[in-house]
Amino acid sequence: MNELEPRPNPTTSARPELALGYLPAPESMSVLRLRDDYDLFIGGVFVPARSGRRFATENPATEATIALVAEADGGDVDAAVVAARAALASWSGLPGATRGKFLYRLARLLQERAREFAVLETLDGGKPIKESRDVDIPLAAAHFFYYAGWADKLEYAVPGRSIAPVGVCAQIIPWNFPLLMLAWTIAPALAAGNTVVLKPAETTPLTALLFAELVIEADVPPGVINIVTGAGATGAALVEHPDVRKIAFTGSTAVGRGIATAVAGSNKRLTLELGGKAANIVFDDAALDQAVEGIVHAIFFNQGHVCCAGSRLLVQESVVDRVEYKLRQRLATLRVGDPLDKNTDLGAINSRRQLDKIIELYESGISEGATAFQPECVLPDRGHWFAPTVFSGVSPSHRIAREEIFGPVLSVMTFRTPEEAVAKANNTPYGLSAGVWSEKASKVLWMAERLRAGVVWANTFNRFDPASPFGGYQESGFGRVGGAAGLLPYLEVR
Ligand code: NDP
Repeated sequence: MNELEPRPNPTTSARPELALGYLPAPESMSVLRLRDDYDLFIGGVFVPARSGRRFATENPATEATIALVAEADGGDVDAAVVAARAALASWSGLPGATRGKFLYRLARLLQERAREFAVLETLDGGKPIKESRDVDIPLAAAHFFYYAGWADKLEYAVPGRSIAPVGVCAQIIPWNFPLLMLAWTIAPALAAGNTVVLKPAETTPLTALLFAELVIEADVPPGVINIVTGAGATGAALVEHPDVRKIAFTGSTAVGRGIATAVAGSNKRLTLELGGKAANIVFDDAALDQAVEGIVHAIFFNQGHVCCAGSRLLVQESVVDRVEYKLRQRLATLRVGDPLDKNTDLGAINSRRQLDKIIELYESGISEGATAFQPECVLPDRGHWFAPTVFSGVSPSHRIAREEIFGPVLSVMTFRTPEEAVAKANNTPYGLSAGVWSEKASKVLWMAERLRAGVVWANTFNRFDPASPFGGYQESGFGRVGGAAGLLPYLEVR
């Protein structure tokens, strides 16, 4: 049989009665103790916003309001920075091992309440429960464990130099990995002796506020960790505050550029973790079934709301038909729907605003002449949804090949030689990540040396470890998260 012809499924086609569907397997929400209203977390206590204003955070899978959350203005941000400043001397004066104990405590508490965090992350953000359960929450705990280990060994991060904390750190994070981004920024800052004010994204503030409960439970001194919720204006007030010494911004390149302009000429340090348009490169000698699994994971993990998503697939011309065929077969098996269902592969798009952006870019792909494939799937009536999509016939000038879609949309292009693959992969203003699939390690290493990307995965994609630095080149930002490199932005080196 030709590999491109559809194959009957031996189990089900002969005996249709054996064709098993998936019955609903919803994760229970009984573990959650949701409140109607959430306050700001300043100086170790929950306080309402001074203006009394609140905004709604919704479940993107149903559009139902989950809770109302306090909206911090400039006065609230000032109170949080004052609290962080007041806590700085005593926190940074603690022995490193004692700071480490607090971080270990936070890590263990996160593990103990992992299920609660996973359910809340999925409810507020729309990602499949199996991802928040198996990736987001364990990785967040792993970051606290990892940097707890550094707290009493800081001198080994910069041997032969004296070091000091930077001061009050402002952490502004996006909605795609809310708790993980919190851990990325808070864990190294605290290990290095700094205090922090964190602003979660407007659409996903709830796990940060649940984390504040752990901060109280772990007896972290008041003011060391402060959390102010709100929209872009709250983030801007934090950036502009004169007593902030370091800003860690994770988000879009457009907002990152504005922040870089705002702090230029000030004494504030800045690290930017911004967008991406990663190339995932498949050579004809790759294990193609394995590569197809990697391609699916690279672009459909977290609905494609991933800065390092493999959104540009570059396939060697000789195998493109086989890869596209296998990809379509695999797409037909993806389950899109209730994010709290343990069988779900693709959950809800995080917000109406993000869905509109995806639709706009999808339509540009059609009007510019690419061909879209979407498997048959029934999308729920309510909520924000987009079917997994693969565009073929894409040229490097198409918008879908150049702009970050941040959704479940893949653009397939081809190449003939490794040199052409490098040229096409590097033809982007971004530079966050890339993937190479080949059975030849020498080819993978040759490619890795030439790809302008902060991370290059070999025969895998989207793998993270707290000990491994992550970050970008060019318009993907600067600074590194993870490893000893992730400590440096939080240390004054003398
Ligand atoms: P945004 O840049 O819109 O928002 C990021 C954060 O900044 C949010 O908390 C947002 O608040 C806040 N914000 C918005 N405007 C301002 C402002 N003027 N001043 C200060 N803060 C502001 O990004 P998204 O939330 O849309 O996140 C998606 C982007 O994040 C993608 O481009 C993705 O690639 C990138 N990203 C990069 C990562 C990396 O490691 N390189 C990791 C994860 C995501 P609010 O949400 O309330 O508007």
